[in-house]
Parts: sequence; C-alpha cells; structure tokens
Amino acid sequence: MKRRMILFTDIGDTIIDEGTEIRDAPGGVVRSAECLPGAREVLLSLHDSGYTIAMVADGLEESFRNMMAQHGLDQVFAARAISETVGAEKPDPRMFRAAMAQLKLRKRDKRRILMLGNNLARDIAGGNAFGLRTALIRWSPRYRYDWTCEAERPDYVLDSPWELPMLLAHLEAEASL
Ligand SMILES: [Mg+2]
Repeated sequence: MKRRMILFTDIGDTIIDEGTEIRDAPGGVVRSAECLPGAREVLLSLHDSGYTIAMVADGLEESFRNMMAQHGLDQVFAARAISETVGAEKPDPRMFRAAMAQLKLRKRDKRRILMLGNNLARDIAGGNAFGLRTALIRWSPRYRYDWTCEAERPDYVLDSPWELPMLLAHLEAEASL
C-alpha cells in the first residue's frame, strides 16, 4: 500500500548513535557506527509498509554509504540529500529542495512531508522555514532540546523511534480526511 505521508530523516543522533562512530581521522569518513535502539527496525518497517523515506543529512557521502550498508538500510531510502553533494548544510533550504527534487515532488507536496531530526537549529528550524511538518527526537544527551524561539518549535516531539509509526499513521489518517 502506497502512503501519502513522506518521511525526511536526519541520520546523526536521529538514526545513528554518533557516540559510536568510528572514523578514519577526526572529521574524516565514518567507517562504522551503531543505530539508536529501535531506529533500524522502525525504518525497515515503515519502508515495508509503503512509506517513502528520504535521508536529509549533513556529512560525507561515503560515511552514509558505509553506515547504511553496515545495517542493511541501503534500500529504504528513495532519495538522499547529503550536504557534501548538495553543497550546503541544514538549515539551508537547498538540502530539503534536493530531496524533493529527487522524489519529483512539487511545492504542494510539502504538507505531506514530516522532517525528523534531533537538532533544533538545523533539522527543526530548517524544516519549519521550508514549510514542512517537523518532529524532534530527543534521545541523545549531546544536544539541547529546549527551543528558544518559535522558529525552532517542533510540531511533534518523540522520545524514541518507536513513536514514529504511530505519528505517521495519525498524520496519514488526517491527510485522508
Ligand atoms: Mg543529527
């Protein structure tokens, strides 16, 4: 079954635990890293149940290739907007625009997109300014989760990846009204 809602997701500390990254050199390519508890299972299950998923992530192409291959997640992404290739980092609208272009979406499709991320200034403020719905995942101790302005206010807050399927199902039901 094809779903109406589309998931845009950050990777670092949203899907992958940045604390477990093993790199070639500081700031270099990530060779391997572990997933957040539940993140891999949730992505696979959303993909299996017909959701379109795009990666919108800051970093190096090779890092994401390595990490997704390690966890068997290559196939779940219908699009990948990666800052190394896009030439801009979130919250720059070019990142979100690149993912939309790869999926051949139009402006009116923005309301179908949920941007998931852990970083208020990049993922949430970026998604909000671009006109997407936004969900903050507060999982990692490495980030602040208290928004200081309207621009950073997420539409939804999740405490674990396991809450994502229910949120998408809820938005899906709302979209079909
Ligand atoms: Mg992140």
